[in-house]
Amino acid sequence: MKKLIALGWALMFFISAGAQQGPPQPPQTIPVLTAAAGADRIVVLPAKTYLNGYVGYGDPPRPSRRPGAQPAAPPPPPGPPPVAAWSVEAGPGTVAFADAAKPVTTAVFSAPGTYVLKLTASNGSGRAFSHVSVTAEGAPPAAQLKAVYTKRYRVDSPFWTARVKALIVSWIPHCVAQINRSDLDLGPGGIDNFVEAGKKLAGRPHGNHKGYVFSNAWVHQTVEAMSIALMIDAQGDPEILAAQAGFRVSLEDWIPKILAAQEPDGYLQTAFTLPRVDAKGVVNPGPFKHWERRGDHEGYTAGYFLESALNHYLMTDRKDARLYDAAKKLADCWDANLGPAPKKEWFDGHQEMEQALVRFGRFVNDMEGGGKGDRYVRLAKFLLDSRKGGSEYDQSHLPVVQQYEAVGHAVRAVYSYSGMADVAVETHDLDYYGAVRSLWDNIVNRKYYLTGGVGSGETSEGFGPNYALRQNAYCESCSSCGLIFFQYKMNMAYEEAKYADLYEETLYNALLGSVDLEGKNFYYQNPLDGGAPRYPWHTCPCCVGNIPRTLLMLPTWMYAKSADSIYVNLFIGSAATVEGVAGTDVEMVQATDYPWNGAVVLTVNPKAPKTFSVRVRVPDRSVSGLYASAPAADGIASISVNGTAAKPRIEKGYAVITRTWKAGDRIELVLPLKVQRARAVDAIEAARDKVALRFGPLVYNIEQVDQDIAKSLGPDAPLAAEWRGDLLGGIMAIKGTFADGSPLLAVPNYSRNNRGPVPPPAPAPAAGTRPAPRPPSSVVWIRQK
Ligand SMILES: [Zn+2]
Repeated sequence: MKKLIALGWALMFFISAGAQQGPPQPPQTIPVLTAAAGADRIVVLPAKTYLNGYVGYGDPPRPSRRPGAQPAAPPPPPGPPPVAAWSVEAGPGTVAFADAAKPVTTAVFSAPGTYVLKLTASNGSGRAFSHVSVTAEGAPPAAQLKAVYTKRYRVDSPFWTARVKALIVSWIPHCVAQINRSDLDLGPGGIDNFVEAGKKLAGRPHGNHKGYVFSNAWVHQTVEAMSIALMIDAQGDPEILAAQAGFRVSLEDWIPKILAAQEPDGYLQTAFTLPRVDAKGVVNPGPFKHWERRGDHEGYTAGYFLESALNHYLMTDRKDARLYDAAKKLADCWDANLGPAPKKEWFDGHQEMEQALVRFGRFVNDMEGGGKGDRYVRLAKFLLDSRKGGSEYDQSHLPVVQQYEAVGHAVRAVYSYSGMADVAVETHDLDYYGAVRSLWDNIVNRKYYLTGGVGSGETSEGFGPNYALRQNAYCESCSSCGLIFFQYKMNMAYEEAKYADLYEETLYNALLGSVDLEGKNFYYQNPLDGGAPRYPWHTCPCCVGNIPRTLLMLPTWMYAKSADSIYVNLFIGSAATVEGVAGTDVEMVQATDYPWNGAVVLTVNPKAPKTFSVRVRVPDRSVSGLYASAPAADGIASISVNGTAAKPRIEKGYAVITRTWKAGDRIELVLPLKVQRARAVDAIEAARDKVALRFGPLVYNIEQVDQDIAKSLGPDAPLAAEWRGDLLGGIMAIKGTFADGSPLLAVPNYSRNNRGPVPPPAPAPAAGTRPAPRPPSSVVWIRQK
């Protein structure tokens, strides 16, 4: 928020409270005359922008950051009520304000370009000003890209094979085992909740609900993760085959238990079916009314169920519709109860149902046709439109189309924005487009970590102010998943490669590093200067299934399609099929050691020869304006088709190759991979006088186990990539020399904190003080001399 406060009228007045009895009071500040124009934003022409400006005395009343919290009553104004006036300072066209004398109004813009609007507050004796930048742009294409569903696929990549295997043979079985336990005291509430709810619905004696009210979520996520893991070709690996056999057994065990917990009208949330126990051990027998309270995660759990059902249905080649049918029943139950009058208006405090309903609605349309899924998409928009009158914490402080700054709990935020992007492309509502473009711009250019993580943690598990990107970041693993979903949907809407550039960054760094190399422990938080080791479980295991279900959905992240194009968004050695392009199905085979090596051979195998375009992402490693990397390593160094050098046209960040493709046609390309130094803009205080190292999509850490991480690197010290097959399962290390002449070794961020002794916890705090944070053992940002 740009806030310039005029000095003409009143700087600061202090009044003494000395006349009062009792202990001396601190001096009170008389607030100064203030104008606040609001967050910079993007508007999609010809729609309007919503100006929620403020003129008054002192800081604008900030919306409550916590649900239910009441903002402090403002002090009585120390001067006459100020008068507001909007005006245009700069811009390529004209601006029409609905009412230029009201701080809360709207404005429309005659031409694309960036405008600076000024809000003036005057009270007769002084004035205050504030500016807001509004960039007006055109609408995205009418037709969005279509999702490529993850179905049977193969991974052939030295890099990804190891990561995928760790998730399949270690991490997911660990989650399954934890969820099967009924004796967990840390993060409890697994399949036992479904079992007990099933007993209750069958009229039998039953137990109480265990764990958080949203504890069904990690069961549904793990069902989805198992389903996707079963779509991956084991290629004869006995450990993967054994794990997959275990997943089939678990699914056959769990599915009847989950279905038995679904109430007759389709509602499914065991915390509503079973009695709950509060923190004092007191049983609340219920009944709990559905869709009454915001904090009960009804949509959060329901949404994960819809998503799990979708991937289970695909995994079974649409032969087993048990979960799919139950998901339709649940979505229908919601649709029957929530919506415009006479139905109920409501929203969940934790978003997830919104994006799940759109994903599920599109899926139902694809499977069954006839627009049968449209009502789920409409319900998603209704739920989002119902968000208002609440707090920043859950993004209900303003109508969603008037939100231009990313605030509050970061997982809720990115899930909200992801659902909004879905609704934008489904409805072509220009207000929705303007909001998601503004929120995207605010995140990427003000609140985004180099690792692709979000959420500094300065507000509860959430976003801080612009540029406030402390190294001890929160960056919850779930927010990395949600940011990938949001970027992916922006890619689908705008058909621009830059959104995929960004989700590649989040995928390879913030998210991939959340699980250790063995797949045994994970991070809930992913700070850039971590010291704590990973752990096998967490009080709140919300991320445990989200991480593998997101990481394993590779074909969806790798490809998108239109009627006549295949978009290649990620470079991963693999084979996957893109169905329904130019009237045929196309197997896409990538042979590459990326991200260790930039050579990629892409074999295009259409079932029948057809004319279409293959659009290959041209990497841009500096989409975020917060960071600049040198030397340049963007673009494609060379590209050829069937051995002949090609000069494809570049469109929206994609190299476009259009021809009649036949099975076996090959695109060979080389992506430049270099050791790069990244610098942050000066506004990010925590990265000032520091440098970070990158190689391709990977951000690097230096670790205490290899060197003193407090040392400085000279600005011109040479750095080199070196393959180290002996280290961390095989990595491209970065080697160099610190300013004091000692050697520097950097390892990819995803592999951080996988070696060496576990650092000791900080010394016990003095009575009444908080423990000091554990000293970092691995850092992204290196001091630069
Ligand atoms: Zn989480």
